[in-house]
This record gives sequence, structure tokens and C-alpha cells, in this order.
Amino acid sequence: MSWPRNTPEPEVTPEQRVEWQQRFGESDRALGFEISKDFKPFAQINDMFTRAFWDPAIKSADSDGFFASYRMGSEPRRGQGFSQKDFALRNASWVISDIISNRGNDTGMREGFQSWIAEDTPVAPTQVEVPDAAAQTAEIKRIAKMFGADLVGVTEVDERWHYSSRVDTRDLTQADNTLPAGITHVIVMAHAMDFDLVETYPSALAGASTGREYSHEAAIVIQVATYIRNLGYQAVASMNDTALVIPYAIKAGLGEYGRNQMVLTPEFGPRVRFSKIFTSLPLVNDQPKPLGMTTYCHSCTKCADACPPKALPKGPPEYGADSPSTIKGVKKWSANCEKCFGYWAKLKTDCAICMRVCPFNRTYDSWSDRVWRKLATGRGRKLAQWWENRNGSRERLKPADWWAKP
Ligand code: SF4
Ligand code: SF4
Repeated sequence: MSWPRNTPEPEVTPEQRVEWQQRFGESDRALGFEISKDFKPFAQINDMFTRAFWDPAIKSADSDGFFASYRMGSEPRRGQGFSQKDFALRNASWVISDIISNRGNDTGMREGFQSWIAEDTPVAPTQVEVPDAAAQTAEIKRIAKMFGADLVGVTEVDERWHYSSRVDTRDLTQADNTLPAGITHVIVMAHAMDFDLVETYPSALAGASTGREYSHEAAIVIQVATYIRNLGYQAVASMNDTALVIPYAIKAGLGEYGRNQMVLTPEFGPRVRFSKIFTSLPLVNDQPKPLGMTTYCHSCTKCADACPPKALPKGPPEYGADSPSTIKGVKKWSANCEKCFGYWAKLKTDCAICMRVCPFNRTYDSWSDRVWRKLATGRGRKLAQWWENRNGSRERLKPADWWAKP
């Protein structure tokens, strides 16, 4: 079923609001989620990457060139990190993800981005018994890590964060986004991006850190979902599609929300991509605890200061709803996505300067990184900020220096 792209998101009924309050009120309070009566689930047709195909306010020669550059040998631009070789590496990093997402071109299901990943294996007719959901949870986390996930958490299905409709990419209409029946849990996985590549943002070279993880996660979600279906349980593999992954990653205890609009994880800071699996496998939800990173953001503006088009806010979280691409009724730091994407389009590659400069973007291999984290997330926050500022701004690694590494 599909409907026109300009159909507004459906209103939330008073009954739905009461039900959500009963089911999620307590966990929202624990997580610090503030949701107003204006809240509506988000329609994916309004996300910036989809608007770039139909909204005249966004679609331009620059945005068309941005997408085209991922599919062909891109014209080099002036500046280090934008040579044909840099674009070549970035495009190679994306190719596995592209192969998966292009499988559904004929059905309008751009898998992993505007549709969940189609099942490659049927659900086995007999179910493996799960006498102990806690043991099953530990086991599925081990399996996900064996396939390559860096962090794994489990949470309940929370349909507030599911897109009210997905996008039929054949004609850019809205299409039904209902998951199969019986899904109860979401397994959220984080995939760490390469530290040195991220240090070269902004550059086409740095885009290889993003593409590499999308290609990794495409393989990992398919493998984990196939394992679960072979056990006789439903499992739907998902990347950026189907639901907003940020609230799910926070609910699964993987991190906290940052001013740069990313989830800050204790292990990698914001340097991660997320994927998810919707499943009926009996599991036990993780119980997130305060991590102290959002608190740090309240007295830091490094990401906003470094953003070239000044797309990030410097003030406190707000119920921002000026842009169709911002979810309504959620109090949070929201970027001006039009300015952000406009900058990407001009660069012809993604920008993540706000990830690179974040003080939590560290490897945590050294004792000093770990001491800094301890201070930054606790009572030593001011000392951690002084320490960070004393070291000056985080300079970009020159792409030529990345290529010259042994
Ligand atoms: S990705 Fe780049 S343009 Fe967008 S908010 Fe971050 S720093 Fe700004
Ligand atoms: S740079 Fe500072 S304000 Fe921005 S996300 Fe990182 S810690 Fe938070």
C-alpha cells in the first residue's frame, strides 16, 4: 500500500498517548527523554536524504552531484583528500552496502536505507527452546560480536520511533512500514569507525570510514538475522531504515545523546554507526544507566564551534520543529539539517567534523584517555574540560599523511 508523498504524518490519538505513557513513561524519565503533546512519529519521506530527491528546497545540481559521485569515478576537487584516489577509496568502501540496497530497486525497497533488508532465509518451522532468556541474550550478543559487531544492546520494541511510513523509491510515495507480527525486541549493534580515517574529516577519504561500516553492518545484520531465523524466530535486519536508531541505541544502553546529534558511547565516543534487528527471540532488555556524557555536552560547544555552516545549536535542548526533517515533540539538540546537507552536497561527500572534534572521540587505548573519560563523566568534568582545552583544538590529519602511513 502506498500514498502521496505530501500526506502529513498521522495524528497521535489520545488513547495512543495514554498507552505510550503507561508503557514507556518510566523508562523515558530514567533516560531523560522529554516528549510533548505535539509528538508524532516521523515520516521517512521527510528525511534530508529523501527530500534531496523530491523537495525543490533541497534538490539542486550540488545534491545531484553528491549522489552521483558515489556511483562513478568522481571528478576530483581542489584540496587534499578530494583526489580521484580519495573518492575511489570512499566508493569502494560503500560497495557491499550498495549491492544490498540496490537489490530492491524494482520493488521500490531500497534495503538498509528506505526499507528493511529482505529476508534471505525463511523462518524455520520448528523453534529451538529458550528456557533462559538471560542466557539467550548473552549468547546472541556473543554471536553478534563474533560476526563483527563492536557493541550490542537489547531493548523493547517502541513504535514511537518507527517511521510512520517508509519510502517507495520507485515514485517517492509513502508506503506501509508495518513489521511482521510477533516482534518483541530490538537488538542494537554499534560498529566502530576507523579512528585515523575519521581524523581526516572533511575529505572524500574520510568518507571511507562511513562506507566501510555500512558495508560491514549490512553483512553483520544479515548474518545475525539469518541465524535467528534458523532458530525458528522472526528476525528483520535493519540499518537506517524502518525506525530511528538513535533512541533505540540509547534505550539499549549503548550511549547517550550528544549536542552533535550523535550517540556518544563510552568505548568510542561518537565514532560509531548503528544497525538493528527486530526479533521475536525471547531476550532480556538492557537497563541503561547514566553515563555522564550528555551532562558534559551541556558545558561544551566544540562541535558547534567547528561546524563550517554553523548547523549545530549552542544553547540547551529545545522542541525544535522548524524543519520538516526534525521530529516533532522531542526536546533535544537538533541540527539545521538543511545547512548541514547543503555543506555535504558542496563537498560531494559526507562531513563529520562534529564527530572528529568531539573530546569523546578517542581510542581509549592509553591510560590518559581512560583517565580523561573518568574525569569527564564524573565530578572531574571541569578538570577534564580544562585538560582538553589545554591541548588546543583537534587538528585534522592531513589526507596526504594518512596515505603516507606505513
Ligand atoms: S556533519 Fe559537518 S556540517 Fe553537519 S553538523 Fe556536523 S560539522 Fe556541521
Ligand atoms: S563536542 Fe562537546 S558538545 Fe559536542 S557532542 Fe562532543 S562533548 Fe558534546
